[in-house]
Amino acid sequence: SAGTSLFRFDNSYARELPGLYVPWKPAEVPAPRLLFLNEPLAEELGLDADSLRGQEGAAIFAGNSVPEGAEPLAQAYAGHQFGGFSPQLGDGRALLLGEVVDRHGRRRDIAFKGSGRTPFSRGGDGKAAVGPMLREVLIGEAMHALGIPTTRALAVASTGEPVVRERLLPGAVLARVAASHLRVGTFQFFAARGEIDKLRQLAEYAIARHDPELAGTPGRYLALLARVAQRQAALIAQWMNVGFIHGVMNTDNMTLSGETIDYGPCAFLEAYDPQTVFSSIDQQGRYAYGNQPLIARWNLARFAEALLPLVVADEGEAAAEQAVAQATRVIEEFPGVYEACLLRGQRAKLGLAEGTADDAADAKLANDWLALLHANGADFTLAWRGLADAATGDAGPLQALIADAQALQDWLARWRERCAADGVAPQQRAQAMRRVNPWIIPRNHRVEEALAAASEHEDLGPFERLLAALREPYQEDPERAAYAQAAPAALTACYQTF
Ligand code: AMP
Ligand code: MG
Ligand code: MG
Repeated sequence: SAGTSLFRFDNSYARELPGLYVPWKPAEVPAPRLLFLNEPLAEELGLDADSLRGQEGAAIFAGNSVPEGAEPLAQAYAGHQFGGFSPQLGDGRALLLGEVVDRHGRRRDIAFKGSGRTPFSRGGDGKAAVGPMLREVLIGEAMHALGIPTTRALAVASTGEPVVRERLLPGAVLARVAASHLRVGTFQFFAARGEIDKLRQLAEYAIARHDPELAGTPGRYLALLARVAQRQAALIAQWMNVGFIHGVMNTDNMTLSGETIDYGPCAFLEAYDPQTVFSSIDQQGRYAYGNQPLIARWNLARFAEALLPLVVADEGEAAAEQAVAQATRVIEEFPGVYEACLLRGQRAKLGLAEGTADDAADAKLANDWLALLHANGADFTLAWRGLADAATGDAGPLQALIADAQALQDWLARWRERCAADGVAPQQRAQAMRRVNPWIIPRNHRVEEALAAASEHEDLGPFERLLAALREPYQEDPERAAYAQAAPAALTACYQTF
């Protein structure tokens, strides 16, 4: 164990939830090397970045030196994967190291991914490769810079050990920071086993951690359901408004905190098409871009089912019918809550004020805009950004993206009329639009290029430059123009993630 106390751990999960995890240790690896350290995040966590940058940091983040105060453990969870229930998943290649309270007083988990086999590993090797772990850094930091709740990468260390995939790849361990690792699947694990006492401990823990105002109140379990539904509605609306496709919205990848978690085969849309799927394993398109709100609702219904046995156990059979009705109402109201979040984001992107606006009319305007992008195969990100130019009279960038000039003019005429109702100066509207419509997103071809350089040639330059650009997504900078450009259409057409 490391001599100095780098982290001030306070491990509530380990302390309060025995029986819901297995204490475990990260595997030793031959040659730790620090590839990435997230200095702004380290600072936020109250860590001394200087002492983490050297050999000690490499040893810690590769798993060879367990820092003082850590109590590494593998969490138990279940989950619906592509619609089918797996009663036992759990941390098969992850470990929760512990929790710290950050500079803002928020409790944050620090967890490893790729730190070796655990009792939940099943057939897996428990390892991770450099490319996918750096991918998690890039996409997570991009999401954070876009203002979207997300887990974040604190560090990536290479291990000096190859991992066996389709071919041999250099191995790595990711250190991930999360508001918690409580998932819908965590509840499903104990509900499926009929372990009501553990389910209750878990629910009380989740309430204390994420919704402390609900602690001790009657009806708190279903109130928790409603809170989680609200957070997920807000999150998915943000995903949709930046064109993010998660790719594996299994119930074990849905958090109670409302943070995006588990950056695997995720990717951003290029041309707008609701049916877009990039993940090679999603052959039915279950997790296509346009399905994400429906899947979130489906997952929340599974969360409701996992909570109901607890309500019945605590309040008796007589209360069951009412509890089911209440839970059903939360699930049925989800689309409306989601639509409201989506529209709030769309209005900002369209440069429209909230005020006394007509929801149905604005939603129609937004939907017709999306239909226009779809019909013309327009790049989603560039089109929104082009609309900001159109706010000050320059429709040139949009005309370059949308071939149907008449349809564009017709829609722009409606939009300008709606804008006029707000009485905001064009320049001011354009500026506001450029603060919510990113210029730079993680373009698939740029991400792949950066990962290939790092993984195949140990060249982290492209990764570092792309990361710097992703951290300033709204900032137009001619030197970064290459990051803003759409991928060549031929590249996008066959793009697959794994
Ligand atoms: P994911 O698809 O990343 O959400 O992972 C689903 C489940 O598979 C989780 O229980 C993971 O811990 C487990 N898993 C994924 N990759 C591996 C691996 N290489 N070794 C062991 N378990 C894994
Ligand atoms: Mg996962
Ligand atoms: Mg994963």
